[in-house]
Amino acid sequence: MKIINVNDKIIQYVFDPDGNENLDCRITVLRDNDRALLIDTAYEEQSIKVLEDLNSKGIEVNEIILSHCHPDHANGTGVFEGAIVTCSDEYKNNYTMSCSGTKYKYKEPDVLVSSSITKEFGDYNIKLIKSKGHSKCGLIIIVDNDVACPGDLVMASRQDKTVTPYICSDGTITEHIESLKRLKLLNPNMLILAHGNKIEGKENIKVEITKRIKYLERILDNNGNVKFEECVESPNEWAFSRWHENNTTMV
Ligand SMILES: [Zn+2]
Repeated sequence: MKIINVNDKIIQYVFDPDGNENLDCRITVLRDNDRALLIDTAYEEQSIKVLEDLNSKGIEVNEIILSHCHPDHANGTGVFEGAIVTCSDEYKNNYTMSCSGTKYKYKEPDVLVSSSITKEFGDYNIKLIKSKGHSKCGLIIIVDNDVACPGDLVMASRQDKTVTPYICSDGTITEHIESLKRLKLLNPNMLILAHGNKIEGKENIKVEITKRIKYLERILDNNGNVKFEECVESPNEWAFSRWHENNTTMV
């Protein structure tokens, strides 16, 4: 486990994957003196480490926001017993479906987002916008109108390669494109990813989002009958192209 400062207010706990996989897994922490708000909780064994570290520093986790309900983002939520959990109103179905067969403690959510809401935490102003596509239960989280956490709508590999978007069985390509366009319009200065290093600068962010939109549009334009190499400009700069096969079946 590594702890990094994303900016002067936000930290991340980074967990490297086992073996040869290229996706790390991150828990983002907004701190308000001795209180913390987590964005995602990763797997249970990872959240236990975060809980121990925060407790050793006298910090209590008061709030959790889940970018979506897949186990690598939500499996550890039950570890933080007293915390208020905010997530999409699609949470329960999806969490149960995604985490069935894994050992997890289900934690009942406290606040459900059906479209968008704003909340305060200490000095932070946080906006949550329901954003489907990767999965039904996705949220984009905007902090202080400046930083966006897009969940798995935007992912990067450990080598900073562009990770191919993945459309889960309850997601759609059209919704994924819509959510990426929404993220682009929000025009953040920084993207904090749940998999991969942050992306900084409005122009860089637009380039990264546009790449992904173009990739998904190519699939739609060709009714799924298109090779990965025909959908992107520099295939070598992309990771997880193996997900393309799944995505073409989602047209
Ligand atoms: Zn994920």
